[in-house]
Amino acid sequence: MTFSKAPSSPYPWQEQQWQHITTQWQQLPHGLLFAGQSGLGVDLFAKKIAKALLCQHSITHLAICNDCRSCHWVDAQTHSDLIVVSPDEAGKPIKVDSIREAIQQVLQTGHVGQRRVILIEPAEAMNVAASNALLKTLEEPPQGVYLLLTCHHPSQLLPTVRSRCQTIQFYPSIAPSTVQWLKAQAPDVDNLEELLQQHQGLPLQALQFLREDQQQMVQKLHENLLALRRGECSLTELATQCLTWPLTQVLEHMMSLTSSMIGMIMLAHSRQQQDTLLMSLSQGIHLSALYAYYDFLVEQRKMPMNNLSQPLMLDAILVHWNNLQQRGQTC
Ligand SMILES: [Zn+2]
Repeated sequence: MTFSKAPSSPYPWQEQQWQHITTQWQQLPHGLLFAGQSGLGVDLFAKKIAKALLCQHSITHLAICNDCRSCHWVDAQTHSDLIVVSPDEAGKPIKVDSIREAIQQVLQTGHVGQRRVILIEPAEAMNVAASNALLKTLEEPPQGVYLLLTCHHPSQLLPTVRSRCQTIQFYPSIAPSTVQWLKAQAPDVDNLEELLQQHQGLPLQALQFLREDQQQMVQKLHENLLALRRGECSLTELATQCLTWPLTQVLEHMMSLTSSMIGMIMLAHSRQQQDTLLMSLSQGIHLSALYAYYDFLVEQRKMPMNNLSQPLMLDAILVHWNNLQQRGQTC
Protein backbone atom coordinates (compact mmCIF):
# COMPACT_ATOMS: atom_id res chain seq x y z
CA MET A 1 0.00 0.00 0.00
CA THR A 2 1.34 3.46 -0.81
CA PHE A 3 0.25 6.83 0.45
CA SER A 4 0.38 9.67 -1.97
CA LYS A 5 -0.88 12.18 0.59
CA ALA A 6 1.24 12.83 3.66
CA PRO A 7 -0.71 13.31 6.88
CA SER A 8 -1.10 16.91 7.98
CA SER A 9 -0.56 18.40 11.41
CA PRO A 10 -3.34 17.88 13.96
CA TYR A 11 -4.06 21.63 14.02
CA PRO A 12 -3.27 24.33 11.44
CA TRP A 13 -1.08 26.34 13.83
CA GLN A 14 1.25 23.31 14.20
CA GLU A 15 2.13 22.99 10.52
CA GLN A 16 5.68 24.34 10.86
CA GLN A 17 6.54 21.92 13.69
CA TRP A 18 4.97 19.06 11.74
CA GLN A 19 7.07 19.90 8.69
CA HIS A 20 10.16 20.02 10.87
CA ILE A 21 9.50 16.48 12.11
CA THR A 22 8.64 15.30 8.59
CA THR A 23 11.91 16.51 7.07
CA GLN A 24 14.08 14.87 9.71
CA TRP A 25 12.01 11.68 9.95
CA GLN A 26 14.83 9.33 9.01
CA GLN A 27 17.19 10.88 11.55
CA LEU A 28 14.62 11.72 14.18
CA PRO A 29 16.26 12.30 17.58
CA HIS A 30 15.30 9.68 20.14
CA GLY A 31 14.43 12.26 22.77
CA LEU A 32 11.85 14.87 21.76
CA LEU A 33 10.37 17.53 23.99
CA PHE A 34 7.14 19.09 22.74
CA ALA A 35 6.85 22.38 24.59
CA GLY A 36 4.03 24.87 24.49
CA GLN A 37 1.37 26.49 26.62
CA SER A 38 -1.77 24.63 27.52
CA GLY A 39 -4.40 25.34 24.87
CA LEU A 40 -2.11 24.73 21.89
CA GLY A 41 -2.83 21.00 21.52
CA VAL A 42 0.74 19.89 22.21
CA ASP A 43 -0.50 16.60 23.71
CA LEU A 44 -2.39 15.65 20.57
CA PHE A 45 0.64 16.52 18.44
CA ALA A 46 2.85 14.21 20.52
CA LYS A 47 0.26 11.42 20.32
CA LYS A 48 0.16 11.74 16.52
CA ILE A 49 3.95 11.49 16.34
CA ALA A 50 3.80 8.40 18.56
CA LYS A 51 1.20 6.89 16.26
CA ALA A 52 3.26 7.76 13.19
CA LEU A 53 6.38 6.17 14.70
CA LEU A 54 4.48 2.92 15.21
CA CYS A 55 2.51 2.88 11.93
CA GLN A 56 3.71 0.01 9.76
CA HIS A 57 3.99 2.32 6.77
CA SER A 58 6.23 4.93 8.35
CA ILE A 59 9.67 3.37 8.04
CA THR A 60 11.00 5.78 5.44
CA HIS A 61 8.66 8.74 5.87
CA LEU A 62 6.14 10.13 8.32
CA ALA A 63 2.88 8.23 7.76
CA ILE A 64 -0.28 7.46 9.67
CA CYS A 65 -2.26 5.00 7.59
CA ASN A 66 -5.07 4.51 10.16
CA ASP A 67 -5.46 1.07 8.65
CA CYS A 68 -2.62 -1.15 9.83
CA ARG A 69 -2.85 -3.18 13.03
CA SER A 70 -0.45 -0.77 14.77
CA CYS A 71 -2.67 2.20 14.00
CA HIS A 72 -5.71 0.27 15.24
CA TRP A 73 -3.95 -0.73 18.45
CA VAL A 74 -2.83 2.83 19.10
CA ASP A 75 -6.44 4.01 18.62
CA ALA A 76 -7.67 1.33 20.98
CA GLN A 77 -4.89 2.20 23.47
CA THR A 78 -3.72 -1.41 23.46
CA HIS A 79 -0.40 -1.13 21.60
CA SER A 80 2.25 -2.90 23.66
CA ASP A 81 4.99 -0.72 22.09
CA LEU A 82 3.40 2.54 23.21
CA ILE A 83 3.78 3.22 26.90
CA VAL A 84 2.08 6.35 28.16
CA VAL A 85 3.26 7.69 31.50
CA SER A 86 1.19 10.35 33.23
CA PRO A 87 0.28 11.17 36.84
CA ASP A 88 -2.25 8.88 38.53
CA GLU A 89 -4.29 11.98 39.25
CA ALA A 90 -4.12 15.44 37.65
CA GLY A 91 -1.75 17.66 39.59
CA LYS A 92 0.05 14.73 41.25
CA PRO A 93 3.69 13.89 40.42
CA ILE A 94 4.91 11.13 38.13
CA LYS A 95 6.84 8.85 40.44
CA VAL A 96 10.09 7.04 39.87
CA ASP A 97 8.39 3.63 39.83
CA SER A 98 6.24 4.63 36.85
CA ILE A 99 9.35 5.63 34.87
CA ARG A 100 11.25 2.48 35.87
CA GLU A 101 8.32 0.30 34.88
CA ALA A 102 8.03 2.03 31.50
CA ILE A 103 11.74 1.58 30.79
CA GLN A 104 11.58 -2.05 31.89
CA GLN A 105 8.64 -2.68 29.61
CA VAL A 106 10.31 -1.03 26.63
CA LEU A 107 13.44 -3.15 27.10
CA GLN A 108 11.55 -6.42 27.03
CA THR A 109 11.81 -8.44 23.87
CA GLY A 110 9.03 -9.74 21.63
CA HIS A 111 7.72 -6.44 20.38
CA VAL A 112 5.47 -5.97 17.42
CA GLY A 113 7.46 -3.56 15.28
CA GLN A 114 10.88 -1.97 14.99
CA ARG A 115 10.07 1.03 17.12
CA ARG A 116 8.89 1.52 20.68
CA VAL A 117 7.67 4.74 22.23
CA ILE A 118 7.47 6.07 25.76
CA LEU A 119 5.21 9.12 25.94
CA ILE A 120 5.51 11.16 29.11
CA GLU A 121 2.80 13.75 29.64
CA PRO A 122 3.35 16.21 31.14
CA ALA A 123 7.08 15.78 31.67
CA GLU A 124 7.24 18.52 34.30
CA ALA A 125 5.13 16.27 36.55
CA MET A 126 8.11 13.96 36.99
CA ASN A 127 9.63 14.37 40.43
CA VAL A 128 13.43 14.57 40.74
CA ALA A 129 13.87 10.84 41.27
CA ALA A 130 11.70 10.08 38.24
CA SER A 131 13.65 12.56 36.09
CA ASN A 132 16.94 11.03 37.19
CA ALA A 133 15.65 7.55 36.41
CA LEU A 134 14.87 8.72 32.88
CA LEU A 135 18.26 10.35 32.27
CA LYS A 136 20.22 7.21 31.46
CA THR A 137 17.69 6.10 28.85
CA LEU A 138 17.66 9.62 27.40
CA GLU A 139 21.46 9.57 27.15
CA GLU A 140 21.67 6.14 25.57
CA PRO A 141 18.31 5.17 24.19
CA PRO A 142 18.10 1.51 23.16
CA GLN A 143 17.78 0.87 19.44
CA GLY A 144 14.35 1.85 18.16
CA VAL A 145 13.21 3.47 21.41
CA TYR A 146 11.79 6.99 21.27
CA LEU A 147 11.07 9.16 24.29
CA LEU A 148 8.40 11.77 23.65
CA LEU A 149 7.90 14.34 26.37
CA THR A 150 5.18 16.96 26.45
CA CYS A 151 5.62 20.03 28.57
CA HIS A 152 3.69 23.23 29.33
CA HIS A 153 6.32 24.69 31.70
CA PRO A 154 9.83 23.80 30.44
CA SER A 155 11.44 25.80 33.27
CA GLN A 156 10.08 23.21 35.70
CA LEU A 157 12.02 20.42 33.99
CA LEU A 158 15.46 19.39 35.15
CA PRO A 159 17.99 21.12 32.84
CA THR A 160 19.67 17.74 32.33
CA VAL A 161 16.42 16.30 30.94
CA ARG A 162 15.83 19.36 28.76
CA SER A 163 19.32 19.35 27.30
CA ARG A 164 19.10 15.70 26.26
CA CYS A 165 16.00 16.26 24.13
CA GLN A 166 15.43 18.17 20.95
CA THR A 167 12.84 20.78 21.84
CA ILE A 168 9.95 21.34 19.46
CA GLN A 169 8.45 24.65 20.53
CA PHE A 170 4.81 25.62 19.89
CA TYR A 171 3.63 29.20 19.74
CA PRO A 172 0.30 31.00 20.24
CA SER A 173 -1.41 31.87 16.98
CA ILE A 174 -3.92 34.40 15.72
CA ALA A 175 -3.14 33.61 12.07
CA PRO A 176 -6.08 33.58 9.61
CA SER A 177 -5.85 29.77 9.32
CA THR A 178 -6.28 29.49 13.11
CA VAL A 179 -9.28 31.84 13.10
CA GLN A 180 -10.71 29.80 10.23
CA TRP A 181 -10.28 26.59 12.24
CA LEU A 182 -12.07 28.16 15.21
CA LYS A 183 -14.84 29.32 12.90
CA ALA A 184 -15.32 25.75 11.70
CA GLN A 185 -15.77 24.65 15.34
CA ALA A 186 -18.15 27.45 16.22
CA PRO A 187 -19.86 28.63 13.01
CA ASP A 188 -22.53 30.62 14.89
CA VAL A 189 -20.10 32.80 16.79
CA ASP A 190 -18.89 36.15 15.46
CA ASN A 191 -15.69 38.09 16.23
CA LEU A 192 -13.58 35.00 16.70
CA GLU A 193 -10.36 36.84 15.99
CA GLU A 194 -11.08 39.12 18.91
CA LEU A 195 -11.93 36.14 21.10
CA LEU A 196 -8.68 34.46 20.10
CA GLN A 197 -6.76 37.61 21.02
CA GLN A 198 -8.52 37.70 24.39
CA HIS A 199 -7.24 34.16 24.91
CA GLN A 200 -3.65 35.10 23.98
CA GLY A 201 -3.71 33.08 20.76
CA LEU A 202 -4.49 29.78 22.51
CA PRO A 203 -7.17 28.31 20.20
CA LEU A 204 -8.18 25.32 22.32
CA GLN A 205 -8.58 27.53 25.35
CA ALA A 206 -10.81 29.87 23.33
CA LEU A 207 -12.85 26.89 22.15
CA GLN A 208 -13.25 25.56 25.68
CA PHE A 209 -14.45 28.98 26.77
CA LEU A 210 -17.03 28.96 23.97
CA ARG A 211 -18.28 25.52 24.96
CA GLU A 212 -18.58 26.42 28.63
CA ASP A 213 -20.26 29.67 27.67
CA GLN A 214 -22.75 27.72 25.63
CA GLN A 215 -23.41 25.31 28.50
CA GLN A 216 -24.08 28.24 30.80
CA MET A 217 -26.43 29.69 28.21
CA VAL A 218 -28.38 26.45 27.95
CA GLN A 219 -28.64 26.15 31.73
CA LYS A 220 -29.82 29.74 32.10
CA LEU A 221 -32.31 29.35 29.26
CA HIS A 222 -33.77 26.23 30.91
CA GLU A 223 -34.10 28.05 34.22
CA ASN A 224 -35.89 30.93 32.51
CA LEU A 225 -38.24 28.67 30.55
CA LEU A 226 -39.20 26.86 33.74
CA ALA A 227 -39.69 30.18 35.57
CA LEU A 228 -41.92 31.38 32.72
CA ARG A 229 -43.97 28.21 32.94
CA ARG A 230 -44.41 28.69 36.69
CA GLY A 231 -45.30 32.35 36.27
CA GLU A 232 -42.15 33.43 38.11
CA CYS A 233 -40.78 35.40 35.17
CA SER A 234 -42.43 37.44 32.44
CA LEU A 235 -42.08 37.00 28.71
CA THR A 236 -40.34 40.40 28.55
CA GLU A 237 -37.79 39.29 31.13
CA LEU A 238 -37.14 36.11 29.18
CA ALA A 239 -36.77 38.07 25.93
CA THR A 240 -34.34 40.52 27.57
CA GLN A 241 -32.21 37.62 28.76
CA CYS A 242 -32.31 35.89 25.37
CA LEU A 243 -31.21 39.06 23.58
CA THR A 244 -27.82 38.74 25.31
CA TRP A 245 -27.17 35.48 23.41
CA PRO A 246 -26.65 34.88 19.68
CA LEU A 247 -30.09 34.29 18.16
CA THR A 248 -28.85 31.36 16.11
CA GLN A 249 -27.85 29.57 19.31
CA VAL A 250 -31.20 30.30 20.99
CA LEU A 251 -33.01 29.06 17.90
CA GLU A 252 -30.91 25.90 17.62
CA HIS A 253 -31.45 25.14 21.26
CA MET A 254 -35.20 25.70 21.15
CA MET A 255 -35.29 23.25 18.23
CA SER A 256 -33.29 20.67 20.13
CA LEU A 257 -35.45 21.16 23.24
CA THR A 258 -38.71 20.82 21.27
CA SER A 259 -37.40 17.74 19.55
CA SER A 260 -36.49 16.20 22.95
CA MET A 261 -39.97 17.02 24.27
CA ILE A 262 -41.53 15.28 21.26
CA GLY A 263 -39.29 12.27 21.83
CA MET A 264 -40.15 12.13 25.49
CA ILE A 265 -43.91 12.21 24.88
CA MET A 266 -43.65 9.53 22.21
CA LEU A 267 -41.63 7.25 24.46
CA ALA A 268 -43.57 8.11 27.61
CA HIS A 269 -44.83 4.59 28.15
CA SER A 270 -41.60 2.78 27.47
CA ARG A 271 -39.26 4.66 29.79
CA GLN A 272 -39.04 4.33 33.52
CA GLN A 273 -37.14 7.51 34.15
CA GLN A 274 -38.16 10.85 32.75
CA ASP A 275 -36.24 14.08 32.48
CA THR A 276 -37.72 16.47 35.04
CA LEU A 277 -37.19 19.55 32.91
CA LEU A 278 -38.76 17.99 29.83
CA MET A 279 -41.65 16.66 31.91
CA SER A 280 -42.39 20.06 33.41
CA LEU A 281 -42.22 21.85 30.06
CA SER A 282 -44.23 19.21 28.19
CA GLN A 283 -47.02 18.82 30.68
CA GLY A 284 -50.44 19.22 29.06
CA ILE A 285 -49.00 19.99 25.62
CA HIS A 286 -50.28 18.01 22.66
CA LEU A 287 -47.80 16.31 20.40
CA SER A 288 -49.34 17.99 17.35
CA ALA A 289 -48.75 21.42 18.91
CA LEU A 290 -45.09 20.57 19.52
CA TYR A 291 -44.70 19.39 15.93
CA ALA A 292 -46.24 22.64 14.72
CA TYR A 293 -43.85 24.66 16.90
CA TYR A 294 -40.89 22.67 15.59
CA ASP A 295 -41.96 23.34 12.00
CA PHE A 296 -42.30 27.01 12.85
CA LEU A 297 -38.71 27.04 14.20
CA VAL A 298 -37.46 25.33 11.05
CA GLU A 299 -39.11 28.09 8.98
CA GLN A 300 -37.52 30.77 11.20
CA ARG A 301 -34.11 29.26 10.63
CA LYS A 302 -34.49 29.71 6.89
CA MET A 303 -35.20 33.45 7.25
CA PRO A 304 -32.40 35.96 6.73
CA MET A 305 -31.07 37.33 9.99
CA ASN A 306 -29.88 40.87 10.45
CA ASN A 307 -29.76 43.41 13.26
CA LEU A 308 -33.25 44.66 12.41
CA SER A 309 -34.96 41.29 12.05
CA GLN A 310 -33.34 39.50 15.00
CA PRO A 311 -35.35 41.05 17.88
CA LEU A 312 -38.61 40.51 15.93
CA MET A 313 -37.69 36.93 15.22
CA LEU A 314 -36.81 36.30 18.86
CA ASP A 315 -40.17 37.82 19.90
CA ALA A 316 -42.02 35.51 17.54
CA ILE A 317 -40.14 32.44 18.81
CA LEU A 318 -40.84 33.27 22.46
CA VAL A 319 -44.47 34.39 22.00
CA HIS A 320 -45.24 31.18 20.13
CA TRP A 321 -43.53 29.18 22.86
CA ASN A 322 -45.42 31.02 25.59
CA ASN A 323 -48.76 30.33 23.88
CA LEU A 324 -47.85 26.68 23.81
CA GLN A 325 -47.01 26.68 27.51
CA GLN A 326 -50.17 28.54 28.47
CA ARG A 327 -52.32 26.13 26.50
CA GLY A 328 -50.53 23.30 28.32
CA GLN A 329 -51.38 24.79 31.69
CA THR A 330 -55.09 25.08 30.95
CA CYS A 331 -55.34 21.43 29.89
ZN1 LIG B 1 -0.73 2.50 10.13
